[in-house]
Amino acid sequence: MGRVGFGVAVGCAVVTCAIAAVLVGRRVQNRRKWRRAVEVLREFEEGCATSIGRLGQVVDAMAVEMHAGLASDGGSKLKMLLTFIDNLPDGNAKGTYYALDLGGTNFRVLRVRLGGKGSMIISHQVEYHPIPQELMSGTSEDLFDYIAMTLKQFVERADDGSEQKADEKKELGFTFSFPVRQMSVSSGILVKWTKGFSVEDAVGKDIAQCLEEAMTKAGLNMQVAALVNDIVGTLALCHYYDKDTVAAVIIGTGTNACYVERTDAIIKCQGLLKNSGGTVVNMEWGNFWSSHLPRTSYDIALDDESPNSNDQGFEKMISGMYLGEITRRVLYRMAQESDIFGDGAYNLSIRFILRTPSMAAMHEDDSPDLREVRRILTETLQVPHVSLRARRLIVRVCDIVTRRAARLAAAGIVGILKKIGRDGSGVASGRAKGTPRRTVVAIEGALYVNYSMFREYLNEAVVEILGEEAAQNVVLRVSEDGSGIGAALLAAAHSSNR
Ligand code: ADP
Ligand code: MG
Repeated sequence: MGRVGFGVAVGCAVVTCAIAAVLVGRRVQNRRKWRRAVEVLREFEEGCATSIGRLGQVVDAMAVEMHAGLASDGGSKLKMLLTFIDNLPDGNAKGTYYALDLGGTNFRVLRVRLGGKGSMIISHQVEYHPIPQELMSGTSEDLFDYIAMTLKQFVERADDGSEQKADEKKELGFTFSFPVRQMSVSSGILVKWTKGFSVEDAVGKDIAQCLEEAMTKAGLNMQVAALVNDIVGTLALCHYYDKDTVAAVIIGTGTNACYVERTDAIIKCQGLLKNSGGTVVNMEWGNFWSSHLPRTSYDIALDDESPNSNDQGFEKMISGMYLGEITRRVLYRMAQESDIFGDGAYNLSIRFILRTPSMAAMHEDDSPDLREVRRILTETLQVPHVSLRARRLIVRVCDIVTRRAARLAAAGIVGILKKIGRDGSGVASGRAKGTPRRTVVAIEGALYVNYSMFREYLNEAVVEILGEEAAQNVVLRVSEDGSGIGAALLAAAHSSNR
């Protein structure tokens, strides 16, 4: 070999070594970044742990907070609102009843015909109507005149003259999904508007009376027999079909629960409630808080950046509004700390871009190459070319978020059962251990109904917390939204004709 040849050979070797070094260096760096992504996942998983011991603490905390909220107003983050509903529908009512459901930019009017014992609901009709934009920020008179006129036209259209005389007083269940301070089963003061309404002169007024005045003006002979929250309607509807129903839970965009409490246990209202049996309490459980809840830095950041920080803490870990957003926050952190999503992960920084139904679809993707995960990453998040193993990591994040949410909701439900002595322990409420009673909890809301992994985790956790034996007496029953028919049934149960 000549000198030149030797020089070339050495040069080639140096270049080869340099390339190899770069490749090895890059691989080491990639491995380090991958490990960082896995570390983010592991830390998150630890932070979300819901061991059976931890769930037991949440159960106890729920029962304790319920006691505190019943003892005094402001005694707990649980408001434990009185509904004055002491008579749940039992299938015996007969006749025609109406309902009005106002909770957003649309309202529904319903007419339900009940056949009395055995025949249950004979028929029902529903109509949806939009609220004109200008009425959402006008005067209460204009708003309720419009609603009363629409209701009157519906009554006239729906009236088949079969059983109710035109001049007979009709009874209405009014579902009003805004914060109300209830004064009786059929009256309540509007505390404030939410969801885009600002009919300011209605604040502080009895909302049932506003409606009744408008109905009278419209020439409609109808009275509000029950003013209710949607969760109470769900309890009523489920109780109508199954007398063992003692509580109802909604897990949809938000979350809430109500249950039947012994009247004498509601210390803050002694003397106010006349009946001796049970009465329905609207817990507003989305606002539940306990230091035992497994909270991560992602939850804290989500809360800090929310318009209602320090409020609805339980809801922010459980409900459909937030699960996708918690997942997005973890994925964004992974994107920042590693390069598993490539350079184009900008969309992961956009709040609420990942909705819970999309997150559920990724979680439930059972294709071997996680095709659905790839589709959502590409189309919704605009993060193409994510490797299969990184997609698997994403599915793990979804699983951790949903499992924690479902198990905490389960602990909340068992907390209610414990408070009313239906958890099989036989020690709550001083009740001696006797024959176990069948207990039904109604559950409504698209997160529970449509997201099967969530539902399975929740159902499993209830059994795990209660134990196999006690769990045999507890039925979680999927219920329809009761804000319509449930409210009409409550009107029947609290009708002055009864
Ligand atoms: P609302 O609570 O507003 O009365 P729903 O009970 O219909 O309404 O709940 C809607 C919420 O449920 C949505 O905001 C969404 O977060 C969640 N959701 C709906 N469908 C699914 C699904 N397939 N998987 C997971 N979450 C879902
Ligand atoms: Mg709903």
